[in-house]
Amino acid sequence: MKYFKLFSNCIPVKGVTKSIVCDLQRNDIYDIPNDLVFILNDLKRKSLESVLEEYEQEEHKKIISWIDKLENEELGFYCEDPSRFPDLSLEFDTPELINNCIVEYGSVSTYNFEWIFKELATVGCKFLELRINKRISITELEDILVLAKDTNIRGIDVILEFQNAQYTANLGLTLLKHQRISRIIIHSIDNSEHFTNSSEPRLVQTVEKINNNLCCGNIGKQYFVSNVSFFTESQQFNNCLNKKLSISENGEIKNCPSMTETFGNVGDINFIDVLGIQKFKEKWNISKNSITTCKDCEYRYVCSDCRAYVEDPKDDFSKPLKCGYDPYEGKWSNWMVDMQKKSIFEKYSMKELC
Ligand code: SF4
Ligand code: SF4
Repeated sequence: MKYFKLFSNCIPVKGVTKSIVCDLQRNDIYDIPNDLVFILNDLKRKSLESVLEEYEQEEHKKIISWIDKLENEELGFYCEDPSRFPDLSLEFDTPELINNCIVEYGSVSTYNFEWIFKELATVGCKFLELRINKRISITELEDILVLAKDTNIRGIDVILEFQNAQYTANLGLTLLKHQRISRIIIHSIDNSEHFTNSSEPRLVQTVEKINNNLCCGNIGKQYFVSNVSFFTESQQFNNCLNKKLSISENGEIKNCPSMTETFGNVGDINFIDVLGIQKFKEKWNISKNSITTCKDCEYRYVCSDCRAYVEDPKDDFSKPLKCGYDPYEGKWSNWMVDMQKKSIFEKYSMKELC
């Protein structure tokens, strides 16, 4: 008997108009027809021969070509005993109390970085995003980065505005010295001549302006993440806010810097005590499965969520505002040309919402 099995890291997700297979090892996504999801499900228990028997003869060629395509794309394989290849567990659990933290640092920041890093160590934080909203010398930046030494932090993203080409080149050296840095993103480069040649892939240079919290929360294919950790976390938890803690420029502790609700100030309340505030963790459990529209979308486990900018600010389960995908039509459009969305975004910009 011949069986067909998807590799355990290749998982189909059904949408309304089409479905996808998420390759969680190669960070890839493949479109497939909805009918194939039912067939793949049946193939978990039945041989190809017995599945084909359930379809009209004229359908067989099409079904076999779909399955051969999956084999050619190295998403699955023919075998004799599918029970020897169990499905991947979709359970998600991590030991750290806080997984990732965003710290905004600007001209009004008076908080003590040493205190923040000590607190991040007590909650086992693994990833840090430093949003630097002022001109900062390389020495000052390195003095901050060195504080991560005795923590569990294993990846730091630094976001800075372009200063000059020499500064960019010096940041390349900072990357060599501080291996914990995952990326330094230099934004707002106004002239293509100001891009610095660098063989360092962790030095990201862009013309895009990332100088405001309103820049966060973008949804698009280029932001999709198809890996085991993201896919499994998205099944049960909010893939942006789960185990996230943020510190605003003026030292307020929040779920995310774009939100107005605060849970104390740096230096006044330990992070462990912040975790004891029930409301702080409320949004952690809003998974894509409970969000309007997203719950029907084939991209729901590879698409990041945003709870700060949503279509209906009064509804905790509303679709992210900055998404231009309609899963009921299977079409992408530019969300910014939608007048209703534009007007909601303007209200967020004017701080009338949040
Ligand atoms: S909730 Fe939205 S704005 Fe906040 S960090 Fe996540 S994506 Fe960014
Ligand atoms: S509908 Fe939801 S899950 Fe689908 S692309 Fe948009 S934000 Fe992502």
